[in-house]
Amino acid sequence: MITTVIPSTDRRAAGSLFGLAYGDALGKPTEFLTVAEIVRRYGPSGPRELEGDPAQVTDDTQMALAVAWALHDAPALTAEAVEPLLRQRFVDWSVSPENNRAPGMTCLRACAELGRGARWQEATVADSKGCGANMRVTPVGLLDVDLDTLAGLAQLQAGLTHGHPTGLAASELTAYAVRLLRDGAALPELPGLLTARAHEQRTVYRGDWLGDLWRRPGVPTAAEFIAEGWDDCLRVFGRLDAALARPDDGGDPCRLTGEGWIAEEALATALLCALRHPDDPVAALARGATTAGDSDSIAALAGAFVGAAHGMTAWPAAWSGRIEYADQLTALAAALD
Ligand SMILES: [Mg+2]
Repeated sequence: MITTVIPSTDRRAAGSLFGLAYGDALGKPTEFLTVAEIVRRYGPSGPRELEGDPAQVTDDTQMALAVAWALHDAPALTAEAVEPLLRQRFVDWSVSPENNRAPGMTCLRACAELGRGARWQEATVADSKGCGANMRVTPVGLLDVDLDTLAGLAQLQAGLTHGHPTGLAASELTAYAVRLLRDGAALPELPGLLTARAHEQRTVYRGDWLGDLWRRPGVPTAAEFIAEGWDDCLRVFGRLDAALARPDDGGDPCRLTGEGWIAEEALATALLCALRHPDDPVAALARGATTAGDSDSIAALAGAFVGAAHGMTAWPAAWSGRIEYADQLTALAAALD
């Protein structure tokens, strides 16, 4: 029997946190460009070098840092202890002068209500499943907690701004993907493992974390509310499986699994980018950045996945001194690795 021992020197939390920021920075200039425009500017393999010193990230990394600090500072990992810290970090972000990176409307609207002191279940944008909740959830997957706590934390941090069940389910799956990779799962195992989790959780509503979020007109039960979210995720995993069954044509992955503006597509398309380049982490980022869709979020999630699998050795060593917020990423990674 061959036993794989994962050395602690991998620094997988650092790999995932920095990978998120690197992907975000590579995708920042390409988010609103067509693939033809991106290829004209960077060549067919897309952007593979950080630009600027420091290289700027977007709201994706800023909000992931907000989540990570809230979890870091929480006296306990329960809904009651974490919600006020998430609320404060999100509101602080929304009014910060650094919040000038094309932030999502859902987050801005919800943060305005959170800042006024509304109950979060009322502050949230109930019908939004934009990718803004799962682009920031990956630090949850780096915590040493049981899977129920991971699920609750991932869904709670999503629910503060994105109240649609698909935002909740896709966020949990995104955090779970990071967790699986950090624990040693191989990238190609991910679609099957995530699909199994979605089937298993399909009617599980986490009332101890979400309270009465599910109550809205036309929704008969909490189980039916949350099942809609898991079903959206299962549908996109079907598209992911179909994409992976075909050879890579080198084109825009968004044509196969969606543009990533919505939560379940951001997850699937980021996974597709990571799976197409299992031995070349920077290529996975560049592939995510060379997309017609939400390039920074797709590349950021691809980076968080690949970095959780490989640790800091995935990335060019010189980048860690050039990325914006490197001090915060380093401090958080040191607490998690
Ligand atoms: Mg962004």
